[in-house]
Amino acid sequence: MPLPKMSFDPSTCLIDGQWRAASQGGNLPLVNPSDGSKLCEIAKGTDADIDAAIKSAHHASEGEWGRTPAAERGRILMRLAQLVLDQVDVLGRLEALDVGKPLKQACADAIALARYMEFYGGAADKVHGETIPYLNGYTVYTLREAHGVTGHIVPWNYPMQIIGRSVGAALAMGNACVLKPAEEACLTALAFADLALEAGLPKGALNVVPGLGAEAGAALSAHRGINHLSFTGSVATGRMIQMAAAQHVIPVTLELGGKSPQLVFEDADLDSALPFLINAGIQNAGQTCSASSRILVHERRYEEVCERMAARYQALTAKRAEEDGDLGPLISERQKNIVETFLDKGADLTLAAIGQIDSAAPASGNFLAPHLFTDVPQDHCLARDEIFGPVQVIIPFSNDEEALDIANGTDYGLVASVWTKDGARQMRLAKKIRSGQIFINNYGAGGGVELPFGGRGLSGHGREKGFEALYGFSSLKTVASYHG
Ligand code: NAD
Repeated sequence: MPLPKMSFDPSTCLIDGQWRAASQGGNLPLVNPSDGSKLCEIAKGTDADIDAAIKSAHHASEGEWGRTPAAERGRILMRLAQLVLDQVDVLGRLEALDVGKPLKQACADAIALARYMEFYGGAADKVHGETIPYLNGYTVYTLREAHGVTGHIVPWNYPMQIIGRSVGAALAMGNACVLKPAEEACLTALAFADLALEAGLPKGALNVVPGLGAEAGAALSAHRGINHLSFTGSVATGRMIQMAAAQHVIPVTLELGGKSPQLVFEDADLDSALPFLINAGIQNAGQTCSASSRILVHERRYEEVCERMAARYQALTAKRAEEDGDLGPLISERQKNIVETFLDKGADLTLAAIGQIDSAAPASGNFLAPHLFTDVPQDHCLARDEIFGPVQVIIPFSNDEEALDIANGTDYGLVASVWTKDGARQMRLAKKIRSGQIFINNYGAGGGVELPFGGRGLSGHGREKGFEALYGFSSLKTVASYHG
């Protein structure tokens, strides 16, 4: 599949409405994970580029963009939604080539990006303050104001979806954004910014500076001109971002991944559950923050679940992105090495099934067959640590308390699901499982943009998606007026 033609030079940054080479002219290669070939070069943004982008965002926030009424901000996002929908095919191909994910999934991500623009476009003029009854002679009300300049550091696994949920909400509230996409996958970030200009977003309201995390990313998170930081990625980087933000005491949203469990009880409808049990683990080759990498099963259904999952696993096939397999390659050789190290550590475990790698998949691609382990002790690193690859473990339990202990037994808390027909158990576990989202008799609810999303513990803090994100991307001001 050839790289679609782009109307901008992918080796540039978008700063102040202009496509410019990085200040020191450096570039980085962008590699196709399906075959290891070089797709193109991208800009290696520097601290000078970040500084220029933040200055531009500041002007936009104090100037034209800051004065744009909420309803007009919404209209621009709505126009952007339509432009994204018109380009689903191109955006999908860019994302599939860049990330290695199956083309159908990449196109679905582009549709989700449009949906974020629709949702936040529609919401832009619906975030209201309130009036507060107070002492005689006072009128008190609250205003929701933009932070000003917001920084967005996004990873390589779902560029379009993560940009949609964070940049979409920030723009809707009137913030001006500086976006640092991941060095492994950044073409749709650039294409999206190009469409935003076409939709009428004033210059400086969205700047994009690709580059290395340790350079452009670190410069963005340390810059005193940033008023809010939104980060999705690893725990290690998240800690650094939070420490950098602490220097200027600015709010941060951290979305850091998880070890999300699905709990299958003895009364579960297994026919309904099975596709979710597996897809939630292997979608995007397991490189999903909300991947369900732990399947907890009641001992009375344990053998049945293991057998049915293993049978399906054997047919799962990794193919190059454009071939639309069950999964694509991993993003990089480095990521593949990380996952293989986990597999080595699991050499003593029961390997119930391994999927396939398509015989036509290039040896130069980062392909890894999905692995399913059973009888995994809950304190084993495969049951405890985020792997970020197509690896799932099945763990038995004998009663509700034990299931809850195992579910809450990691340092993460992003997503969980409960498969049971027992209404009281559904309610009880929905309250007791430590997690940002709980699904009952489903997993992920189709990824709904309306549904607030975020973590507990090492999964991070702050919420993106839904209306909740609009509160995060705004600052509340209380006005108390004394008039006697
Ligand atoms: P990462 O955290 O290093 O990268 C994510 C983003 O942060 C990228 O844009 C990167 O350039 C930037 N970054 C890196 N170092 C930075 C720094 N010092 N200051 C500011 N920004 C910086 O993640 P990774 O190396 O791409 O992946 C490593 C692991 O992170 C994976 O194995 C996986 O476990 C996890 N991860 C999680 C998610 C998620 O959605 N939660 C996404 C990607 C990766």
